[in-house]
Amino acid sequence: NADAAMYRAKEFGRDNFQFYAPEFNIRTQEKFVLQEELRNGLARSEFTLLYQPQVDLRSGQVFAVEALIRWKHPTRGMVAPGAFIPTAEETGLIVPIGDWVLHEACRQNKEWQDAGLPSMTVCVNVSARQFRERNLIGRVVDALRASGLEARYLELEVTESLIMQDIDVAVATMNALQNLGVQISIDDFGTGYSSLSALKTFPVARLKIDKSFINDLATDENDQAVASAVISLGQKLNLRVIAEGVETDHQVAFLRENNCDEMQGYHFSKPISARDIEKLLGGPKD
Ligand code: C2E
Ligand code: MG
Ligand code: MG
Ligand code: MG
Repeated sequence: NADAAMYRAKEFGRDNFQFYAPEFNIRTQEKFVLQEELRNGLARSEFTLLYQPQVDLRSGQVFAVEALIRWKHPTRGMVAPGAFIPTAEETGLIVPIGDWVLHEACRQNKEWQDAGLPSMTVCVNVSARQFRERNLIGRVVDALRASGLEARYLELEVTESLIMQDIDVAVATMNALQNLGVQISIDDFGTGYSSLSALKTFPVARLKIDKSFINDLATDENDQAVASAVISLGQKLNLRVIAEGVETDHQVAFLRENNCDEMQGYHFSKPISARDIEKLLGGPKD
């Protein structure tokens, strides 16, 4: 790629060469290739969802799963979202990809319910570009209708920064979703710039404490302060609070002592396939 970009720059003549920042060309070209691959990937059904259980800290019950996208790339293997969601977001491809995620997550949750698994909420990440789409509500309604899933079993995860881009529009969209019966949570809470006074007006059901505050909970007093502050904030605003990225017994103990409601993380389970969710929650059927 680098050579190709370089070569093309040279074709324009040596005098122009200095006007081409090679890094810019390479990145643009890689992005273009990735965009084409994403488009093909969508057409060829190369995407899949893994599901990570969310656990009630008091009862120990799994009450929800978060859908996390993976790309089964024909040559590169399993690709994590961090490697392609940003480009999908920039190019707008996140809209059709996100649509697929919504439909698939709702379809799968309904299939689990029909198979007799305990009813769970399925949580779907929604990016800024998707959230800004004028037709988001219509898309959500479509996914619910196509799957037959009741709205209360769908939750959308949005980030603080997404909401803060335009609070009034975001609150209106969230209200419309809430009116449908869909729940909303704020993902990666603590990493953005929420206005705490605005937070009480958001129609959200819960806050997800970002895993960057959970990682070093054992040793970092600042992280302990942030985590316990978010938990109290949630209690005072009547919002549930979940900690993400929980890996150790020590973190679980801290969260229990501080009355955190829920947890998600490798301590309980990594993100796993739909089949493995059935094995985990469906009892000893096979
Ligand atoms: P997120 O929504 O904050 O998801 C949590 C991330 O933390 C997931 O990474 C999950 O695998 C990881 N994780 C969970 N528990 C632990 C733990 O105990 N330790 C560690 N080290 N990590 C843990 P993943 O699956 O790579 O997803 C990364 C991000 O990509 C997500 O962050 C979300 O922002 C985005 N994403 C994933 N799926 C989708 C999707 O379908 N649509 C959109 N728009 N974004 C998605
Ligand atoms: Mg999330
Ligand atoms: Mg998160
Ligand atoms: Mg995160």
